[in-house]
Amino acid sequence: MQNVIYPIFYLFAAALYILALKWMSSPSTARRGVRAGETAMLLAVVGTLLRFEVVEYHWIALAFLIGAAIGAPLALKMPMTAVPQRTAIAQAFGALAAALIGTAELLEAHPSGFAMAALTVEMLLGYMTFTASLIAFGKLQELLPGRPMTYRGQNYFNLSVLAGAICLGVLMNQSADPMSIFPYFVGASLLFGILLILPIGGADMPTVIALLNSYAGLSACAMGFAFDNKLLIVAGALDGSSGFILSIIMCRAMNRSFTNVLFGGFGALQQSAAGSAEQRPVRSASPEEAASILDAARSVIIIPGYGLAVAQAQHKIREMHDILTKRGVEVRFAIHPVAGRMPGHMNVLLAEADIPYDKLVEMEEINGDFPMCDVALVIGANDVVNPAAKNDPASPIAGMPILEVDNARTVMIIKRGMAAGFAGIDNELYYMDKTLMLFGDAKSYVSSLVKELSAQGNE
Ligand code: NDP
Repeated sequence: MQNVIYPIFYLFAAALYILALKWMSSPSTARRGVRAGETAMLLAVVGTLLRFEVVEYHWIALAFLIGAAIGAPLALKMPMTAVPQRTAIAQAFGALAAALIGTAELLEAHPSGFAMAALTVEMLLGYMTFTASLIAFGKLQELLPGRPMTYRGQNYFNLSVLAGAICLGVLMNQSADPMSIFPYFVGASLLFGILLILPIGGADMPTVIALLNSYAGLSACAMGFAFDNKLLIVAGALDGSSGFILSIIMCRAMNRSFTNVLFGGFGALQQSAAGSAEQRPVRSASPEEAASILDAARSVIIIPGYGLAVAQAQHKIREMHDILTKRGVEVRFAIHPVAGRMPGHMNVLLAEADIPYDKLVEMEEINGDFPMCDVALVIGANDVVNPAAKNDPASPIAGMPILEVDNARTVMIIKRGMAAGFAGIDNELYYMDKTLMLFGDAKSYVSSLVKELSAQGNE
């Protein structure tokens, strides 16, 4: 009876996982996608608990309580800007769980043939992703130095360790006593995970996390083959491929070489040029002047960036959007794929403030509209609007697609000072004749704009 029921749960879970990914690809359906993913997970867990192989529930209940006691506060209290490190730590434990399940199977069931080969792949990916994600977490949380750690011959050494782990895995498959080789295999896999991440700079880590996510998914997929569990194969393959595609998209958006990400060492590309930025005059404006310019505009494009997330200015921006829209100004938001510190960061922030989805326009779609736009209002963004990406082949961000705000009639930029962004380079946009710098914290500056606009509206 039970064995008839659980495949039905698995079937619905697999279908929902696919729909969840489909829905999560658009901001307007993303919430539905998250709910579908949660329901799929619930069905998968309940279906598994109904399997007749599960004979005792008290250990499972205890693990559930401990996990929920740690996971729920983590999810509720973590600020959005810390999501990359939260993902890294969650992934580390997910990968460790997969690796330990594989180890338990090896000890208990002594698999052979195809099941043993799949289990070996699963454990290699699991142990490697565990240490790699831990190091990524340490760098993002600034527990470890964020700068890339490089040395001569690093790539050769790393590849030798990986080759060693693979050879030990093959030996384990052929040996009559795999447990004698197992500790060395685990050691090499753990070591490779550490070595893979050391050469990567802390700020580049979100891209790597997407890739590690893919490895963890592939590990789960291999586990599905080892256990002949079709749901694990489907969910792992979806996780593996979506993580892979996401890291390719992020690499393209940041003009990074995907090969460098795959083999580590792309953090070395990050060179700060901030120190060379000379003092040059810029034009600044008061909130009163800026509000008058916004009020007189017919079309305004707002460009949100990392600073907006740090300042948590999204609700104030919503107020400003409402006032301007009521006065007949067309207000839209230009979304760069890597604005902020994680993919979709700006979409999530603006959705939190209930800004209508149809006002969020992707980079490729909106770039042609900047010449017709009266005011481009940049809020806490820097690299994603830096014209050096198009104009300076020697720039560290050369080739990175940008929002072409320099084509707008007037550019206004809210930021606290002249500090560089993530790439550590100066921005020519600040020195253009049509640019006005609005110095201040994004939230308090936008609050002042809202006050001024309201006051001007009452006059
Ligand atoms: P940037 O990091 O380039 O710039 C952010 C700007 O915000 C800074 O210049 C800073 O200037 C300003 N700022 C910081 N705090 C505040 C505040 N409280 N109020 C107002 N302004 C503030 O951000 P972008 O969004 O333009 O670009 C994102 C960068 O991150 C890109 O280089 C991208 O490649 C990278 N990246 C993105 C990932 C993603 O998935 N989204 C992943 C990994 C990297 P000041 O200090 O003067 O205020």
